[in-house]
Amino acid sequence: GNFVPPIRNNGGSTSNMTSRVIGKNDDSMGDSTRKCLEMLCGPDGELPEKLRNLEPRLIEHVSNEIMDKDPNVRWDDIANSCQPAIAGLEHAKKCVTEMVIWPLLRPDIFRGCRSPGRGLLLFGPPGTGKTMIGKAIAGEAKATFFYISASSLTSKWIGEGEKLVRALFGVACCRQPAVIFVDEIDSLLSQEQQTDLKNWMKQHGGDLQNVYIFPFLHQESHCSMVYFKEARAWIIRNLLEKDGLFKLTEEETNIVCKLTEGYSGSDMKNLVKDASMGPLREALQQGVGITKLNKEDMRPVILKDFETALQEVRPSVSSSELGTYEEWNRQFGSLA
Ligand code: ADP
Repeated sequence: GNFVPPIRNNGGSTSNMTSRVIGKNDDSMGDSTRKCLEMLCGPDGELPEKLRNLEPRLIEHVSNEIMDKDPNVRWDDIANSCQPAIAGLEHAKKCVTEMVIWPLLRPDIFRGCRSPGRGLLLFGPPGTGKTMIGKAIAGEAKATFFYISASSLTSKWIGEGEKLVRALFGVACCRQPAVIFVDEIDSLLSQEQQTDLKNWMKQHGGDLQNVYIFPFLHQESHCSMVYFKEARAWIIRNLLEKDGLFKLTEEETNIVCKLTEGYSGSDMKNLVKDASMGPLREALQQGVGITKLNKEDMRPVILKDFETALQEVRPSVSSSELGTYEEWNRQFGSLA
């Protein structure tokens, strides 16, 4: 109810904008746009004030492409850590629970000095679970999840970024509680600033007083390698068990984990995907066509499948890249 749009409305032309009531005879609006706006209307059949004077096509885009009504990720789907340099997902989950989920579930308690921050900055190499955390927040807090990539604002939506952001906040406001996940925020920085995030932080420090710096990085090596290996083992087991395909022994799982040092969560997911093709490829070699193949005739995924897959799926993050995140965490992170 206390929503304040982040961008000032400078007035401007209102042609081609939505109005209070969606006119039944408004031919300029396609069926899907009309349907989408109708879904956002209140019980009185009127469009909420926050959506008036916004372009219908932008509202439609936000509702169809950016809003994810069922993110379908739960806390338990997220491994606690998956790379040597990335610890602290346990810490991240705890902080997110206290800073975001509880306030969303119990706004009556989180007021005054307990008022929650308005934003959260998750940083880390690609494929380490940042988006998953955003979706899990929405899932756990029964909130609507909005995903937008900042780089798409600057490329695909050249000149319209501001209007789109306004539509995004308008729709999110009507769908509260909402989680807005802005990916690749660094793409909003200039090239020069990108090379030195520190400068950006200094320059924008004032605006960021409500943004929590939330690192997944840990500079101390006391988080032993075994811990990280366990996280990779967890991802392998979790993904294969879902399909009833996990039959590796502990020793075999350990071998895979040793061979996957430096693999991110999404690298592990890709590896499991590739390995799970092994039994299928082998079964097809017997001459049975894909359409006639009996699922039960396929063997489980074995160590050999992982060894083959390892030749295809390489780690996507280099150790020098990790060093950059570590350095940033040392300067600005919340995890000592
Ligand atoms: P990011 O947003 O950090 O780039 P994502 O959250 O999009 O990474 O991760 C991509 C995919 O990789 C996820 O959908 C998931 O399957 C897998 N993944 C990444 N990190 C983890 C993790 N910590 N635990 C389990 N799966 C993970």
